[in-house]
Amino acid sequence: MTETQNVDPAEIAKFEALASRWWDPSSEFRPLHDINPLRADWIDTLSPVANCQLVDIGCGGGLLTEAMAWRGAKATGVDMGEAPLAVARIHQLESQLDIRYLQTTAEALAADEAESFDVVTCLEMLEHVPDPGSVIQACADLAKPGANLYFSTINRNPKAFLFAILGAEYMLNLLPKGTHEYGKFIRPSEMARWIRAAGLISQEMTGLTYNPLTKRYKLVREDVSVNYMIRATKPD
Ligand code: SAH
Repeated sequence: MTETQNVDPAEIAKFEALASRWWDPSSEFRPLHDINPLRADWIDTLSPVANCQLVDIGCGGGLLTEAMAWRGAKATGVDMGEAPLAVARIHQLESQLDIRYLQTTAEALAADEAESFDVVTCLEMLEHVPDPGSVIQACADLAKPGANLYFSTINRNPKAFLFAILGAEYMLNLLPKGTHEYGKFIRPSEMARWIRAAGLISQEMTGLTYNPLTKRYKLVREDVSVNYMIRATKPD
């Protein structure tokens, strides 16, 4: 791994250590399992993915990649973690879905496969990289003109600190302590600036809220205070 790569080795190591449990819905990955149908349906409703070329940046064990391939996408999953990708490939042996997994970065793939994808997804990953703007630029480069791009992350404000760190990591034990760093959370305004700088156009956003009593997540369009997703488009 060279120093010039936009990769934080400590972040990759966190996910390497947990990878074997990626597909266990009662594990540390439970929140990703819980939100997976919500986000997959949101994406597939806004831009039906059947027969589209889709790339999933920071795919981890492949939860979203498989969900999109199951909906008919011809998918490529990209991650810098070796163990998460190994788990993704083993799971694919069972699911038999049409997915190509690559151990690389968004930036390196964009150098080889520019303007190749109808849909680009990059979910719950930007808050783990040194330079999120560079990943967003690479996603823009990977997208065909007219493509849809989806980004998700966690907002940065006192409520997000309370819910995403104190609540999720320290009180409810939904995630291992240290999963997220508050300073790396991204405000929608910052995301919008990176999207614009990459030549993309911001479209709609939706929040993802968690109710600790019912233990359920919901898409709530008007509440982007903690977890949120945004759609952007690449001009034709
Ligand atoms: N997108 C998946 C997994 C999110 S976990 C989902 O939402 O289900 C974040 C993932 O990003 C981890 O698998 C980690 O290995 C990966 N990652 C972190 N930095 C990366 C980088 N610079 N390039 C590629 N993948 C990266």
